[in-house]
Amino acid sequence: MRLSSPVSSQGSLLLVELKSARALTEVKGDWGGRSVPFWQEDGREATQAGLLGIDLEKAPGSYELKVTAQNAAGGKVVCSAKIAVRAGKFATERLQVGKQFVEPNPEQIKRADEERQRLREIFDRVTPERLWNGKFRVPLDGVSAGGNFGRRRILNGQPGSPHSGMDFPVPAGTPVHAAQRGRVVLAEELFFSGNTVVIDHGLGTYTFYGHLSSIRAKAGDPIEAGAVLGETGATGRVTGPHLHWGLTVNRARVNPLEIVALLGKD
Ligand SMILES: [Zn+2]
Repeated sequence: MRLSSPVSSQGSLLLVELKSARALTEVKGDWGGRSVPFWQEDGREATQAGLLGIDLEKAPGSYELKVTAQNAAGGKVVCSAKIAVRAGKFATERLQVGKQFVEPNPEQIKRADEERQRLREIFDRVTPERLWNGKFRVPLDGVSAGGNFGRRRILNGQPGSPHSGMDFPVPAGTPVHAAQRGRVVLAEELFFSGNTVVIDHGLGTYTFYGHLSSIRAKAGDPIEAGAVLGETGATGRVTGPHLHWGLTVNRARVNPLEIVALLGKD
């Protein structure tokens, strides 16, 4: 078993590769009670790969990844690795925003809670097939870096939840592309993230696109890699136009640029 990095930190993503002399089947990973789905790498019969997401609020410490599989001879293969999770280096920012977002009225609180619950239910579902095929890309043309991932926010003096995605400050109206192939599972306006699209890429991997000015995708539809989902805007809770891009891997909120680094290369 090989890990893309010997150490990890909050909000990071690891690629786990399992190589064997003979083809493996029934590969299952367990990471603290959460399953880690594996897929067979194209044209590499003896290699299985899995993505291990380290949630941005996972307590630092040492955790065991356990993988079991069957080999062609019917034998059971078991291997494990200890993975050290370090604290992430995240900035703390103090922000003044419109009062209605810090002190939402009871109706807005109810709406935001319902939407959070719906998103949680979406991210809990694991589509057993890998829907992506090929490299992951940054959703904006010609952009490779963003900011604010994991930032701890203090809104009008009140600590808020950590910023779970990457922000790309680009002019409103910039086309937003699907990072990879998948199925649109949400395409609508939400209280905090404004016009939002969520794509299921299979195997518990989801990308999230927020604050769009318009949506050109429909929930339930399959989507190809690179297809335009909408345009950037400033809908929802924002201080200016930007794309908020998020990645959830088996319920762990991770830095989306890491999937481009791991699965975006040749
Ligand atoms: Zn954001």
